[in-house]
Amino acid sequence: MTLIKSISGIRGTIGGRPGDALTPVDIVKFTAAFGKILIQKSGNKKIVVGRDARVSGEMVSNLVIGTLQSIGAEVVNLGLSTTPTVEIAVPMEKAAGGIILTASHNPGQWNALKLLNAKGEFISDAEGKEVLDLGESLDFDFAGIEELGTVIQDDTYLQKHIDAILALEYVDVEAIRKANFKVAVDAVNSTGGIFVPALLEALGVQTIYKIHCEPNGKFPHNPEPLKEHLTDLSAAVIQNGADLGIAVDPDVDRLVFMMEDGELFGEEYTLVAVADYILQHKKGNTVSNLSSTRALRDVTLKHGGEYFAAAVGEVNVVTKMKEVNAVIGGEGNGGVIYPASHYGRDALVGIAILLSHLAKMGKKISEYRAELPQYYMSKNKITLTPDLDIDGLLSAMQQKYAHENHTTIDGLKIDFENEWVHLRKSNTEPIIRIYSEGKTPEAADAIAQKIMHEMQEIISK
Ligand code: MG
Repeated sequence: MTLIKSISGIRGTIGGRPGDALTPVDIVKFTAAFGKILIQKSGNKKIVVGRDARVSGEMVSNLVIGTLQSIGAEVVNLGLSTTPTVEIAVPMEKAAGGIILTASHNPGQWNALKLLNAKGEFISDAEGKEVLDLGESLDFDFAGIEELGTVIQDDTYLQKHIDAILALEYVDVEAIRKANFKVAVDAVNSTGGIFVPALLEALGVQTIYKIHCEPNGKFPHNPEPLKEHLTDLSAAVIQNGADLGIAVDPDVDRLVFMMEDGELFGEEYTLVAVADYILQHKKGNTVSNLSSTRALRDVTLKHGGEYFAAAVGEVNVVTKMKEVNAVIGGEGNGGVIYPASHYGRDALVGIAILLSHLAKMGKKISEYRAELPQYYMSKNKITLTPDLDIDGLLSAMQQKYAHENHTTIDGLKIDFENEWVHLRKSNTEPIIRIYSEGKTPEAADAIAQKIMHEMQEIISK
């Protein structure tokens, strides 16, 4: 049983005691707190709610919507939806904010409330803290019968989202239609099973092989779109002779492609490829988080733009993108943020852009992948004793590498000429994650081993 109350939302496992898990009691108090704050600050009672297809979704949604009614909110319920769809619906509805019910890539026993402001973007640290404080204090009133809120069901946002994507300047439906792609889709039996095939049809893709596209919330494999979880998609691509495969996570904000040979295009390369296409048409800057591949920097420089790194976390990436007026950005975990659409990770936007890119190049996806800058990552961690001073360890490492290019905006990232290493402490466990990247898998491993050895030496002193 777990309940993680963080500024980005309330996340936990279903079942258990209040305060120890995401129970109805916890859902009600934090929903009421968030709704109260939204309504008090804006005077606007409208709040958009949507959810992914996980098994607990209906129960959590009923609680959230009932709670919002109990504080007098006017709920627009999108029902089964995606994170980016709720994000675009909030400003289109002129709502005060929104709540997405999804634990993203986490397994089925998890669920969460993700909280959006009036722009349909994730709330800030300060706003998140306010919600947590008010939720814990229970210092608010519920409405009497004269002030109870309302609910309307709105299932028009699937089409509105698709229409908005088709209208994007560099999405080329005619080229995609002519390319006559055969595409396999694994949507892990969540709402991507509805939204991805509907988008593909609207883009003129006539042959779609649907794998795990029943939105029943019964995840047929671990829902994080990683190579080891996508063996069914790989088999479907090969058996059907598909041109490519597409996998999304349960709330459709992470996107990975599979090549025609059944190999993964690489989650790190979703953003790289999408940026490569956008930057061809619109010169400008890019942003990703510190743990993302350097290939984005290389592609950005090739197109004459400047690359910027942000701390890990979607809200940090979005803040940096606004600051440097980035034309595209996101996260190496398959998160594409295209501000011409909206400031949120959107797998559907990523699909439309990559298919436009492939269609115009007229190359196999594997041929294109071979042309992109080649980097390999190594992901490691070291487990520490709980009493160890992790911040002290990181600052000792910083002193050791003070002469190299480095940043401490989020842990310690050291940029060597041909490799980088990013050290981050976990907020929940006594571990340090060591992500590294090099031009070969061996180089990425070697730099990670060297740094881990040096940290062990500092610890043992
Ligand atoms: Mg997600």
